[in-house]
Amino acid sequence: MVRLRSRLARSQSALGRGLLDLLSRDRLDDEVWDEVEELLIKADVGVAPTQAIVEELRTKVKVLGSRTPEEVRALLREQLLIQVNPDLDRTLHVQPHGERAAVVLVVGVNGTGKTTTTGKLARVLVGDGKKVVLGAADTFRAAAADQLQTWGERVGAETVRGPEGGDPASVAFDAVSKGIEDKADVVIVDTAGRLHTKTGLMDELGKVKRVIEKKATVDEVLLVLDATTGQNGMRQAQVFGEVVNITGIALTKLDGTAKGGIVISVQRELGVPVKLAGLGEGADDLAPFDPEVFVDAIIG
Ligand code: GDP
Repeated sequence: MVRLRSRLARSQSALGRGLLDLLSRDRLDDEVWDEVEELLIKADVGVAPTQAIVEELRTKVKVLGSRTPEEVRALLREQLLIQVNPDLDRTLHVQPHGERAAVVLVVGVNGTGKTTTTGKLARVLVGDGKKVVLGAADTFRAAAADQLQTWGERVGAETVRGPEGGDPASVAFDAVSKGIEDKADVVIVDTAGRLHTKTGLMDELGKVKRVIEKKATVDEVLLVLDATTGQNGMRQAQVFGEVVNITGIALTKLDGTAKGGIVISVQRELGVPVKLAGLGEGADDLAPFDPEVFVDAIIG
């Protein structure tokens, strides 16, 4: 959690400083409000949430009249927090069902950080005392299975892999079978994120899911989304949302962007909570997403 705060603070606090600076001006005319709006939009907050924030701030600032810096900060914090939605259930579903392992399916476009997030998540779970099996169902990208296996060795999780170019569903099935056989707690299946065509993706991911469900239930479908790709990434995310039932978002590379507003827009657009934040390339650079810590990192 300390990491979430410190890593985010560095990348996100420019937004907060800009907003606080504008809101502290003596005269808040239309031009200033336009600038507030622009800052929020630039930070990928999204049009509708931005309008909601600005509207509420305008009303509340008017009621206040003169403002102390503390009052301005509290108002902004309140409005950002409403939009980040602290009430969403962000529990990761990784509890085994009796003797049967829980299954997490990791999906998303290539390059977003799927394999890295899979490895980092395995590390967190192993650290919690869980036995984890990894499934390298990204058989499309040549180095993906090697990369995942390296993560597995690093964090203490066995990796099940198939032949390069093999059937992803068959690797997923083998990984889940291995997890059950070895009485693992969690099986995490890393998939290929080829966005060739929607039907192609649907066929591939649909098959992976169906095949896993012959053996176990898929408890969590984590969509990995690169925070630096902004609205473009959102569109890709929507396609995944149409193909599989996403239960949570892992937002990666939040350490490298000031556009943390994507948290707000992606949750709103997909109707799914951000559960994990990727904060770097290292093994410990994954944190549970905490709305209050996130908003505090923005406003500093
Ligand atoms: P995949 O193709 O979706 O499996 O993506 P990878 O896991 O191979 O990650 C692509 C690149 O993004 C790699 O260089 C990772 O080290 C990097 N990466 C992944 N997550 C993060 C993150 O949270 N922060 C930063 N800065 N880099 C990340």
